[in-house]
This record gives sequence, structure tokens and C-alpha cells, in this order.
Amino acid sequence: MIGTRLRGLVVGFSALAMLVAAATPASAWCWWNCNYTKTKYPIVLAHGMSGFDELFGVYEYWFGIPDALDDGGATVFVTEVSQFNSTEARGEQLIDQVEQIVAITGKPKVNLIGHSHGGLDVRYVAAVRPDLVASVTSVGSPHKGADLADFLADNVEGGSFGEAVLGAFADLLGTVLGLISGSTNPQDAIAALGSLTTDGAAAFNASYPQGVPGTSCGEGSAVVNGIRYYSWSGTGVLTNALDVSDAAMGLTSLFYGEANDGLVGRCSSHLGDVIRDNYFHNHLDEVNQILGLVSIFESNPKSVFRAHANRLKNKGL
Ligand code: CA
Repeated sequence: MIGTRLRGLVVGFSALAMLVAAATPASAWCWWNCNYTKTKYPIVLAHGMSGFDELFGVYEYWFGIPDALDDGGATVFVTEVSQFNSTEARGEQLIDQVEQIVAITGKPKVNLIGHSHGGLDVRYVAAVRPDLVASVTSVGSPHKGADLADFLADNVEGGSFGEAVLGAFADLLGTVLGLISGSTNPQDAIAALGSLTTDGAAAFNASYPQGVPGTSCGEGSAVVNGIRYYSWSGTGVLTNALDVSDAAMGLTSLFYGEANDGLVGRCSSHLGDVIRDNYFHNHLDEVNQILGLVSIFESNPKSVFRAHANRLKNKGL
């Protein structure tokens, strides 16, 4: 009898809680949620190599993520660098923007989070200007190179594109990514490709080894020069039947001999403290694309970013 009453009470309370939650405006919600992502230093989101920010705008490259972080109290900046260029060129552009963010906010450092090629860019910034950086986090970044970039680079002939190959590749990704075909400067695209090949990544790692695992699939140093290093990635490919980009991810994933997110292999994504390397996210799901179409059976990308901001906050960053 008591058990029945208790259950009734619990059910009643749950229903009430749901009603309250549904009726509660965002500002009231904040009284216990608003400090969850309130990091000491601003969070800077650095995008990867692609054309899909041209479709959605660079802010919405991170679909809903800046707002999700902001709702919990974080100060968030979204940077923009050349779509297609070397890591060093993109990294120098990023340094300029981080300097501006530091000047605007009055905070001496930032928490850098880079997706895809952006994860290499943020490593460059941390290596060259460690004074500006509290933490480095990469999401789905090819620190040991990407097999697809190797394939493409092998098919670039005599300094000009192997047009058939690149055309086929662009077709694979179609208008969803606009990759390569969206570039107005093919030489920049070649430089970008060069940065993402196995050889290009190895050369970059030799110059900027901070946080890179010494073994093929291990973890890197969690702290280098006082800067914390983290990474996560996915190994999902076909994750949402409604998302037309899943087909492109499915095709590009065939270039890989290991678990991958459609563009980056699981082990290649490792940097510093590996938070997780097998979310059921594909390369676009990692930034909650397209338009939030991700698996409903996995942690939502926005939740993953929020949890990470909370992790940084708890580290005093
Ligand atoms: Ca998706």
C-alpha cells in the first residue's frame, strides 16, 4: 500500500516536473542551469575545411552549439579562417582573431576547440602563442592524416588537379559539402590537402608535437607547457536516415581501413586526453549537422560540447 502510494507520488511529481519544465521560460530555467558551461576563459570554436559554412554561415557551422554553450554561461566566439589553406596559414589567421578576442574580453587566454582541420589550426596557435591558450580540444581532427587526403594527393598530377578524381570526389560529397569545388583558389586547396595527408601531418607533428600521441593509437600528454589537450571523435557513418549527407559520409568512409567518422580515422583523431573516440557520430554529426540531424541513439553533439565546457570549468579553465 505504501509502495503504491509512493509510486503514485513519484508519478505525480514527474508529471508536475514535466509540466513545470514545459512552462518554464529559458530565463527561469537558468537559475540552476546557467553556470554549467561558465568557463573562466572564453571558448573559441574553430571550423574545419569545408564549404558547408558557405551554405549555413560560419556561425551555424556549429549548428546550435554556440547557443547551447552560451545558455550555460559560457562566453563563445566563432572564428573564420580560409576554407582551404595550409594549417600554418590558417593558424596565423586564427592567432590574429584570438588576439582580438583577448582584447575584447579582457581575459588573457582562451579555450580553443577545433573541428576537423580546425583541430590542427588550434594546435598551431597553442604551439606558437602558448601565452594566449588555456586549453586545446580537437573534434574529429586528422592528427596523423586522413586516408582520403592521401588518395587525393596521390592523384594530383604535375601541380594541377587530377580533375577526374577531384571531380568524382566533389560529386561524392555533392552540394552538401561543396568541398574542393567550392574553393576559388585551387592552390589553396592543394595546400589544404597537403596538410591533411599522412606525410603532411607527420611533418606538422615534427614541428608541433604538443599533445600528439607517441604511439599509433595511444593518448597524448594531457598537459604541455601548462596547456591542457583533449580530443574526441566519432565512428558512426550512417546515423540518421533523414540526413542526405550520410550517403556522402558512407562513400568516403570506404577509403579507410579502420573505424572512422567518414573522413577521419579513429586513431588519427587522438590528441592529449582522449575523452572518447567512438561516438556514434559521423564527421558532420560532430558539429550537429546537417541541421541537427544526428543519431537519436547517441549523446547529442550539443550535450557533448556542454559536458566538455563543464569539464574545462571544473579544471579552472
Ligand atoms: Ca548528420
